[in-house]
Amino acid sequence: MRHILMAVSGPAGVGKGTIVKTIIAKRDDVVESVSCTTRKPRAGEIDGKHYFFLSKEEFLRRIEEKDFLEYDEHFGNYYGTPRSFVEETLKTKSVILEIDVVGSLNVKKEFPELVLVMIAPPSVEELKRRLIGRGSEDEESLKTRLARLDYELAQRDKYDYYIVNDDLDTAIAEVEAILDGEGNTAQ
Ligand code: ADP
Repeated sequence: MRHILMAVSGPAGVGKGTIVKTIIAKRDDVVESVSCTTRKPRAGEIDGKHYFFLSKEEFLRRIEEKDFLEYDEHFGNYYGTPRSFVEETLKTKSVILEIDVVGSLNVKKEFPELVLVMIAPPSVEELKRRLIGRGSEDEESLKTRLARLDYELAQRDKYDYYIVNDDLDTAIAEVEAILDGEGNTAQ
């Protein structure tokens, strides 16, 4: 069976992390990509597991060498998806990128075989409830995230699959069916 690169994408709070972590935990033929970053490791974070921690110089050198499928800068730190790690891992397993909408569309340009999956909320109200329920947002970041929502959902037509995360188990089963189906039929 061929292994695929899949982007699981969608607005913040929609359930991407929950879906991806559940799938990774129960299958040994699928892993999550490990990103590179220039930010400092937090307590308990392991190099090569949570991130590949790089110096800024090293990161910039790898941008020059075109080793990132996409990269971005947030709050003064760089984050990127390393092409070499993804390609090496694809020899033995399928790889999921949990990534925002803009990032996933950038990866598609560099890696056209990417299977694009959008996770959408059942409604804007439910998305707000999940973001607030997660307890990770202050008023300001909630506003920023919701401001991006219309743009993100409007990119739907660029995606291969569109899944509404209403019932979590159903959404997980749908993503797994895509992994199995695409893996079987791809050349
Ligand atoms: P993301 O990774 O897309 O930002 P998370 O996986 O952190 O989103 O999910 C946001 C919150 O929504 C979490 O508290 C999670 O437990 C909850 N959640 C995820 N999927 C569902 C669902 N189908 N129904 C209800 N709550 C959900």
